[in-house]
Amino acid sequence: MGRVAVVTGGTRGIGAAIAKALKQEGYQVVASYAGNDEAANKFKAETGIAVRKWDVGNYDACASNLKAIEAELGPVDVLVNNAGITKDGMFHKMTSDQWYQVINTNLNSLFNMCRPLIEGMRERGFGRIINISSINGQKGQMGQVNYSASKAGDIGFTKALAQENAKKGITVNAICPGYIATEMVMAVPKDVLEKSVIPHIPVGRLGQPEEVARCVVFLASDHSGFITGSVLTANGGQYMV
Ligand code: NDP
Repeated sequence: MGRVAVVTGGTRGIGAAIAKALKQEGYQVVASYAGNDEAANKFKAETGIAVRKWDVGNYDACASNLKAIEAELGPVDVLVNNAGITKDGMFHKMTSDQWYQVINTNLNSLFNMCRPLIEGMRERGFGRIINISSINGQKGQMGQVNYSASKAGDIGFTKALAQENAKKGITVNAICPGYIATEMVMAVPKDVLEKSVIPHIPVGRLGQPEEVARCVVFLASDHSGFITGSVLTANGGQYMV
């Protein structure tokens, strides 16, 4: 059997593409989701990938679900922290709920998911942790102080955890997608995309979820053992660091 991979938020959008690509590569994949049962059941029926519902912002829920997954399938060797939300608004109008929900789902989730797994990975001398950050965590984005802070936090988390575990065969990397053609982005009116978004992307188009998924497949593989603490941008050249 292939290695066990957990993809949070793996039932829709970029996460679904990641889960499918990892399955194609022979991993035993579990995709988590928050509450959209309809999308999760459709995804499960179409792909045969196992799905589990829990809130990645809740430490106990993460720990108990990971324990159940490991009891059923074996140790989790690959973790993709992909689940994320936005609660946009200008900072001077932002509520504390908007702030805390986004930080909890996008940043605290990395602690909640990595902490229960890291000791096992260290003991086995192997692990691949891939955190899906964002271009807006690199450059900041007006209307997204909460989201930009959470995604920048994901990058700091990645680099520090990578340093702590480099000698243990565990790599920790971040991917920063730009505009990817998921439901969220495709909900933006076509003329806004054509006039205000795509002109800022040098390659002249949106990214596809599969293009992010291929980055994950590489970072999850045995071939990427020398790459750790890195931040891989997948943004069509929109922001170069
Ligand atoms: P989607 O909104 O399409 O999907 C989000 C997924 O995360 C869903 O499966 C959702 O579950 C799950 N999720 C949300 N909150 C939680 C939670 N608290 N606990 C568990 N699962 C949760 O997102 P995208 O595919 O657009 O984005 C995926 C990641 O990529 C995010 O981290 C996002 O910030 C990042 N990103 C996206 C970009 C884009 O252009 N789309 C650009 C840059 C970064 P459910 O279906 O139940 O709601």
